[in-house]
Amino acid sequence: MRIAVLASGSSGNATVVEAGNSAVLIDCGLSVRRLEGRAAELNFDLQHLTAIVVTHEHGDHIGGVGALARRYKLPVYMTHGTFIASSFGEQRGIDVHEISPHEPFSVGSLQLHPAPVPHDAKEPCQFVVEFEGLRIGVLTDFGSETQHINQHFANCNALVLEFNHDPLMLDACEYPDSVKDRIAGRLGHFNNQQAVQLLAKLSVGPLCHVLAAHISERANCKSLVEQQLAATLSGTNVAWDVAHQDRASAWITV
Ligand SMILES: [Zn+2]
Ligand SMILES: [Zn+2]
Repeated sequence: MRIAVLASGSSGNATVVEAGNSAVLIDCGLSVRRLEGRAAELNFDLQHLTAIVVTHEHGDHIGGVGALARRYKLPVYMTHGTFIASSFGEQRGIDVHEISPHEPFSVGSLQLHPAPVPHDAKEPCQFVVEFEGLRIGVLTDFGSETQHINQHFANCNALVLEFNHDPLMLDACEYPDSVKDRIAGRLGHFNNQQAVQLLAKLSVGPLCHVLAAHISERANCKSLVEQQLAATLSGTNVAWDVAHQDRASAWITV
């Protein structure tokens, strides 16, 4: 089972998880052409995708989904809230499957476990993907930790986790106050300190890879995230890396 993040950040997100004879793309906030370029970096043929799964209706997650679904004739899975908050009701020729954010479902040989998350979208969820007892979690775009999140994303073998911003850098950056409040709010995005605290709880058990994701280009810097990851995970067997906006990550295999 393997995962790669093709793009991560407020300009577009896409993550591929592959196992057995199936592969799912979680979100697509990029154009088809850009996504094809990222897939080529990974030697991954998008024809191998089984489906697209959408976490929520924000443009950096859903902006490229319609075009990709039509181009590669892929079914799209999303919650009812995401469906009604997006333009998918008006888009023709797309096979949309509505999911419950509380119930697991299958995409080919993969089992997807959605979890509702606190984020300022209509019915957002994030996913654990399971294959033959192995679990990979993707957890971004949530503003606060919940008991349910802690339970749901425990016992993952690999985890993509949001390290959106550094609170001091967010405070000092040129965003309007309303945007800063939204990002730092309980329905916004996780900051570095929150992420390492959550990671300390989740890095017991089988976790062996962490990929820091959705890193703000204006209110964070990768070296700061790397320092925090190194400090938190030193002495553990957990390997870590950071995901990029402008290029694909390496494959992580579990
Ligand atoms: Zn986002
Ligand atoms: Zn979002």
